[in-house]
Amino acid sequence: MLIFHHIKDLRRFLLHKRTLLTDIGFVPTMGALHKGHLSLIEQSKAQTRLTVCSIFINPTQFNDPADFAKYPVTLHQDIQLLLFAGTDVLFLPDVREMYPEEHDYPLFYELGYYETVLEGAYRPGHFQGVCKVMHRLLRIVEAEAVFMGQKDFQQCMVVQQLLTMTGIATKLVIVPTLRETDGLAMSSRNMRLQPDERKTAAFIYQALLQMKQQLNTGDVVPVKTAAANFLTSKGFKVDYTELANAHSLELMHEWNGKDKIVALIAASLNDVRLIDNMIITS
Ligand code: AMP
Repeated sequence: MLIFHHIKDLRRFLLHKRTLLTDIGFVPTMGALHKGHLSLIEQSKAQTRLTVCSIFINPTQFNDPADFAKYPVTLHQDIQLLLFAGTDVLFLPDVREMYPEEHDYPLFYELGYYETVLEGAYRPGHFQGVCKVMHRLLRIVEAEAVFMGQKDFQQCMVVQQLLTMTGIATKLVIVPTLRETDGLAMSSRNMRLQPDERKTAAFIYQALLQMKQQLNTGDVVPVKTAAANFLTSKGFKVDYTELANAHSLELMHEWNGKDKIVALIAASLNDVRLIDNMIITS
């Protein structure tokens, strides 16, 4: 695995690969890697001939400075995991490399509705930060495909909008969420949970399953309320338990029995905020 710290070195290498008609798969991450990240690498390796992974803890997407300060860093282990997974290239830029003072990137991305709901509403500025870093990374790597997790459902929608807005010709491939045996979605933040919190965290998955079971045509507000009450009773501070149209992310109050629905949850145990989602209609 080759490791690059500088954009110009990575670009020179990728340019050479491109002249050999090698197609590139890209997996952007913030490190603290787990099997969920490795499933993205696996997909990239299956679908393209050269896999580039980036590790960059992007300061601009943290609306809460305490969350940024506590974000886990496990670089040595990350490199071992990436080697084991057969990653070809690791891009490890620092903040100055990604955010030089002079640049030609927009200062604001027009994301409209996405910034007003769910993660957009609860984490002001978060998706601006996601677009800032993803625009730069996508332009640096110029991959055929970028592989991202369904775990961050709304982020996938925002990145798709960024690709459309900028005309970048990279295809977004959304990879299913990898879960622990008790259903908890794998996440870098899970390592910040105390052992008892780690057990409790699996109730998020149970709440998603309950929403799936309870969904019926007509009024769906009681389904959302029941999930919120369930999580609160288990000790969570609930931000939302929502049902939304899986194509538009429009929040649902009534279901017509036809639209594809995604259930989305954000809830915290002490200061660890967890998100998860599930498509609950076929
Ligand atoms: P992060 O390092 O948390 O920014 O995540 C990097 C990428 O890994 C994002 O596209 C995430 O959606 C994806 N990801 C995170 N957790 C999982 C998971 N449990 N299963 C699949 N993909 C995941």
